[in-house]
Amino acid sequence: MINIPKGTKDVLPKESYKWHYVEGVVKDVAKSFCVNEIRTPTFEHTELFLRGVGDTTDIVNKEMYTFEDKGGRSMTLKPEGTAGVARAFIENSLYGNTQPTKMFYITPVFRYEKPQAGRLREHHQFGIEYYGAESPSADVEVILLAKTIFDRLGVGKLSLNINSIGCPECRKKYNDALKSYLGSHLKEMCATCQERFDKNPLRILDCKEEGCKAITKDAPSVIDYLCDDCKAHHESVCAQLTACGVEYKINPRIVRGLDYYTRTVFEFVSENIGAQGTVCGGGRYNGLVEQVGGKPCPAVGFGMGLERLILVLESLGLSVGEEYVPTVYIAPLCDKAREITPSIALKLRAKGLSVDYDVMDRGFKPQLKYANKIGAKYLVIIGEDELQSGKVGVKDMTSGEQQQVEFDALVDYVAQRA
Ligand code: ATP
Ligand code: MG
Repeated sequence: MINIPKGTKDVLPKESYKWHYVEGVVKDVAKSFCVNEIRTPTFEHTELFLRGVGDTTDIVNKEMYTFEDKGGRSMTLKPEGTAGVARAFIENSLYGNTQPTKMFYITPVFRYEKPQAGRLREHHQFGIEYYGAESPSADVEVILLAKTIFDRLGVGKLSLNINSIGCPECRKKYNDALKSYLGSHLKEMCATCQERFDKNPLRILDCKEEGCKAITKDAPSVIDYLCDDCKAHHESVCAQLTACGVEYKINPRIVRGLDYYTRTVFEFVSENIGAQGTVCGGGRYNGLVEQVGGKPCPAVGFGMGLERLILVLESLGLSVGEEYVPTVYIAPLCDKAREITPSIALKLRAKGLSVDYDVMDRGFKPQLKYANKIGAKYLVIIGEDELQSGKVGVKDMTSGEQQQVEFDALVDYVAQRA
């Protein structure tokens, strides 16, 4: 037998309603923020991620699904959603439109990671991208969009952590300070952090190893190294969130795992799903569009892990939507009835009802059992007697009541009650 690849999941028909539910909510909220969808390809030229995501990140160093296509080009399955959107923004000259350009995406994301609860090799993200807006108001707007989704889903318990990692100028000063703080501990840090020390010391704060976490516990905070402009930007974001009544914690350890961030970074974290608690991560990335070949253009956004979101909803006992149940099940009991059943089903469906009927050539009892099992609200019985009398039996499966209904009146009878 051929098994599913490690770290991937089937969404079976019994559980796909959960996906429809969360995707429905995120799309509704995006619409209420006047954001349209962008769809970009599942794979891109590898070069895009090398330039966009950055070659000092775990994603680019260890996690990408890269392959050579039959034309000898190096391609990579999307390891995140933003770089492809930035490429599309440039390639389609969207910067020529009145700004901002606001987009959302829902996409599979591929990362060669060690599979564990909440960590898959293929997961799905809902993401927001705001291009062209430099103002702290845009940062606030994307944070509010994520918050609105969580509120709409009833998840009040996520904590919002915010930080600012400044611009390249602030970062340079901070990196020097961090390096002089960490210098004497270099040998005690994990191999990855030893590499990060020279390439991108800020990322050491993102290390999940206990030893490294202990070393960085009292490290200087990047927020104390912000230039005046970055500081004002950060303070404005915080003030606007406070004015909206949004609770947040300034967490100087949040630096995010991708190289493209500047200024605002944030995460929504759950206490309920174990170690992989970050449900949504985002921030500002003013350098990205230029980095992947466009004219300089400020941008801000986030990525939200949909599997983790569903885990949070389930762990808190919140709604994950409802399984579809047919309104009507038609039970044909003879050949003639079977002949006309599809056309009756079509008429009922045209009225907007969900209708199922026997395609297994079963007898009455197993059909009744099946109708009960799938939770049908009404059972329409068509047998020899019914055909002769010109009436059909309609059973309300909740109350158990059964009525004989004129054939011609059936569609309206059921449609009015269901
Ligand atoms: P983590 O620190 O947990 O590895 P990350 O910083 O790599 O997360 P992002 O690149 O910001 O994550 O992706 C945005 C969101 O996508 C995360 O907050 C998380 O909800 C989800 N996510 C990331 N990687 C995975 C994965 N391997 N499996 C499932 N969900 C994931
Ligand atoms: Mg990661």
